[in-house]
Amino acid sequence: MKRVLGVVEGKSGGPLIILLGGLHGNEVAGIKAINKVLQVIHQNQVPINGTLVGLAGNLQALASNRRFIGYDLNRCWTEDFINRVYHQQHTQAEDIELKDLHQIIMEFKNHEYQKRLLIDLHSTSSEQGNFVVVPGSEAMNPVVQSLQQPVVIDLDQYLSGTLLKYLYGQGFFSLAFEGGLIGSPEAIELNVSGIWRMLEASGAIGSAHINGSMKSGKKVRSFSRLPNFVKVRYHHKISELDKFVMHPGFANFQRIKAGQLVASDRNGPVYAPVSGLMFLPLYQSSGDDGFFIVEEVSIMEAY
Ligand SMILES: [Zn+2]
Repeated sequence: MKRVLGVVEGKSGGPLIILLGGLHGNEVAGIKAINKVLQVIHQNQVPINGTLVGLAGNLQALASNRRFIGYDLNRCWTEDFINRVYHQQHTQAEDIELKDLHQIIMEFKNHEYQKRLLIDLHSTSSEQGNFVVVPGSEAMNPVVQSLQQPVVIDLDQYLSGTLLKYLYGQGFFSLAFEGGLIGSPEAIELNVSGIWRMLEASGAIGSAHINGSMKSGKKVRSFSRLPNFVKVRYHHKISELDKFVMHPGFANFQRIKAGQLVASDRNGPVYAPVSGLMFLPLYQSSGDDGFFIVEEVSIMEAY
């Protein structure tokens, strides 16, 4: 697989939009969706305002269908760490990925654009894994709202070294779109319709060139009732030594009660410490977050 999935140079004066898929190597839905969208743009000669770039994230992990090889490529984007990777010999697979991605993104960043957007596409290991992660102050941004998905307002504060946070600091409007369950056909569909919606809302594609079926409105929100805005109330961080095992059957945004048995680890049963909505229950072998508990908030409370 190539790093650069495609570049469409459109009319000047528009935004720079970077679509990134596969930052986690076992999440290919984003890449498939980017390729589908680029194909339609080329075939139908859809006019673009600004520049659209499609990138693949962790190439080595993608090749072996693993979340990562040496370290998580979405937990390493800090100034210190990037400097170290640039000035030290590469010892881990992700050093090369990080440096390569960083160089490409910074090169585009240095051109003149009226605004810069990073859209980081992911999938989750649990059901109903469709939501947007965005810095709280951006929750009402039309690009975010165009997705009509639950918005997680403060998750970025609980995860360090995410690409989203790093590029936000670099002047990019950045969001992560979690487009459903890993390996499900719906995830690709959800990513494709989400990309069209965001391209329209950002002004990269005029509304006249996007029809209803491309945005497939009904399919985007076909699950049970989902909250509009949520905040994190509890973060269950884990390490490999914990031998953490999530109990089966939990979906994102499923209501749980304080004291409910949700998982087990080397010390025995793990109970939910607070009531709320289950979020990101871990159903894959690698990851540092066992689960979160979130609560619905109104947009006023988000600030
Ligand atoms: Zn991911």
